[in-house]
Amino acid sequence: MRLKDPFSLKTADMTKRSKKPRDEDSSDEVGGLTCQHVSRAVDLSSVKKAVTGNLWSVCSDCLKERNMLEGEAAGAHDILVCLKCGFQGCNQAETQHSTKHRQAHHSDSHCITVSLSTWKAWCFECKEELSTHCNKKALAQTLDFLQKHSAKATSGTTSKIISLREEPVDTQRGKSPVNSTLIPVKGINNLGNTCFFNAVMQNLSQTHKLNDLIQDVKEKGHKMKICPPAETNLGPLTVTLPSPEPLTSAMFLFLQSMKEPGKGPVSPKILFKQLCQKAPRFKGYQQQDSQELLHYLLDSMRVEETKRIKAGILKAFNNPTEKTADEETKRQVKAYGKEGVKLNFVDRIFVGELTSTIMCEECEHISTVKEAFIDISLPIIEERVRPALIYCSTIVKHLFLYFISSIRPQQGGAVEQLVSAVSKLGLVHTSTDTLPVSHSPEEPTEIRERDRQHHQGAFQALCHSYTPSSKECSVQSCLHQFTSIELLMGNNKLLCENCTERRQRPMKRSDKKAEKVYTSARKQMLISALPPVVTLHLKRFHQAGMNLRKVNRHVDFPLLLDLAPFCSVTCKNLGSGERVLYSLYGIVEHSGSMRGGHYAAYVKVRTPQRKPELRRNQSGTKEASSAPQGQWVYVSDTSVQTVPESRVLNSQAYLLFYEELL
Ligand SMILES: [Zn+2]
Ligand SMILES: [Zn+2]
Ligand SMILES: [Zn+2]
Ligand SMILES: [Zn+2]
Repeated sequence: MRLKDPFSLKTADMTKRSKKPRDEDSSDEVGGLTCQHVSRAVDLSSVKKAVTGNLWSVCSDCLKERNMLEGEAAGAHDILVCLKCGFQGCNQAETQHSTKHRQAHHSDSHCITVSLSTWKAWCFECKEELSTHCNKKALAQTLDFLQKHSAKATSGTTSKIISLREEPVDTQRGKSPVNSTLIPVKGINNLGNTCFFNAVMQNLSQTHKLNDLIQDVKEKGHKMKICPPAETNLGPLTVTLPSPEPLTSAMFLFLQSMKEPGKGPVSPKILFKQLCQKAPRFKGYQQQDSQELLHYLLDSMRVEETKRIKAGILKAFNNPTEKTADEETKRQVKAYGKEGVKLNFVDRIFVGELTSTIMCEECEHISTVKEAFIDISLPIIEERVRPALIYCSTIVKHLFLYFISSIRPQQGGAVEQLVSAVSKLGLVHTSTDTLPVSHSPEEPTEIRERDRQHHQGAFQALCHSYTPSSKECSVQSCLHQFTSIELLMGNNKLLCENCTERRQRPMKRSDKKAEKVYTSARKQMLISALPPVVTLHLKRFHQAGMNLRKVNRHVDFPLLLDLAPFCSVTCKNLGSGERVLYSLYGIVEHSGSMRGGHYAAYVKVRTPQRKPELRRNQSGTKEASSAPQGQWVYVSDTSVQTVPESRVLNSQAYLLFYEELL
């Protein structure tokens, strides 16, 4: 056994010092007879402060030294809390962080600790157990606080502690149990200007869902169950996947080495080499853009996995060819393929959907364009810049998928119409005449009224709009801008195919071709599907004439972000009025100038979330939650240090990683 319990080891010593055996309800005269340290060694307010700001039941020094091992629950070691300063230290034979803490302070004031497994208080100076039922008020109060905090931290809904319980194995899908341990933070070697890569990899390493899913699918022969929608009349199909492709394999091995025992740093050579084989532009060992890299990595793995799933489906049908397959086989392969490719792990973690709704002000025809996103690029409002300039860039997003649909799918050529309408919009946005209209009380009541009557839900967010204060520069104010209603007028008018068609109709008989009709229109972009991990990109770099400029302005970002005001009312899997909470767990920071800049990461070491059985309370709404506990760590290549939350909030964020709060 690795545990060394002072209470069992010191029993002999204790009996020597006390005159008679202890009993639980002993008064001060019996228990803690000789200890005179309580008044100096117990400080409730310091304990409160330290305990609420740190990960519960985890040795702070082990965390710092990155001794947290994969497969070893942190709760396996007894933790002793120093009642002077609230330091949580382990009692492992090899590390003895609790003892070292006391010795480091030389004075006798850090001598009383309480064990989180037995709730017994112990004075190291007197080498005796202290009765907690004594009349030493400070001791009793501090213990009371710790026990209450422990109950809160271990309650099912918040699941903030490391627990030894493992989730039941999902036999149906052959899923391995969710690992209930912390992922350590290790430095990553710089291969020559590769900090842009290292900072992203630190964040991916702390993405629990990525670690879980990649672990799931890494093996050759992994089975995947595909369930096509009911209208296809097809039952579920289980396919066997071939080996993963090279980049995905390299990513898995890298994530694995980040979790392995040992302190690091880790060399990213193999993964980086794989990446450069696919995209030689990253090879130059020049400073690169972190966001571009993240995109490239995720998109490439997505392509690899899609290929793998397709191969699995074809194999299930004995690899039919265009010539040998009958119509029914082709139909089935197509239906399973359509559903199967969505099951790749990248889509299941990072990919969401934006819907932009455009309404012609004259005929009120509504068209929608859906586009998948892997991150949301938010322009930063620069001080003393004409607001119109900002709006131009909102449409330029890094999207790798493009879906188009229409509210009226029966209408012939709807897709083509929308493509032209959208490409028109794209062009329109390069001019600076776009007039932004915020969804505010100044908006004409007439228009809002009309909307409600004719097009319920068309321009409706999931909950009331977020209203930023006038000088606010935050993630929320950027999202507010991003999702606000724009009026397209003047040079930016919409080519309305519906109005054009209407004008054309009476002239059908004659061969004259009617002119295209341009009308004023309203446009709004809202989130229509949210992935488990939302990545926000703050656009700090932008083109100014021939030069690329950097916006250094600080942008506030919350630890807990409510996305409801930016989601459409039709957003998948969400009820209206609900808060849609996401918790910050990682940041890529870019500091310095365009040329001489440096990328580093802030990551939050935290326990993986468990899905609570009851999502709602009695009133049917989600309970007000707070961000899960954790320890923030700053990583710059090989250098790793724990930092307070305040430092994290002051960082110059470039990429922000938020995970869904379960
Ligand atoms: Zn003492
Ligand atoms: Zn320790
Ligand atoms: Zn202490
Ligand atoms: Zn129209």
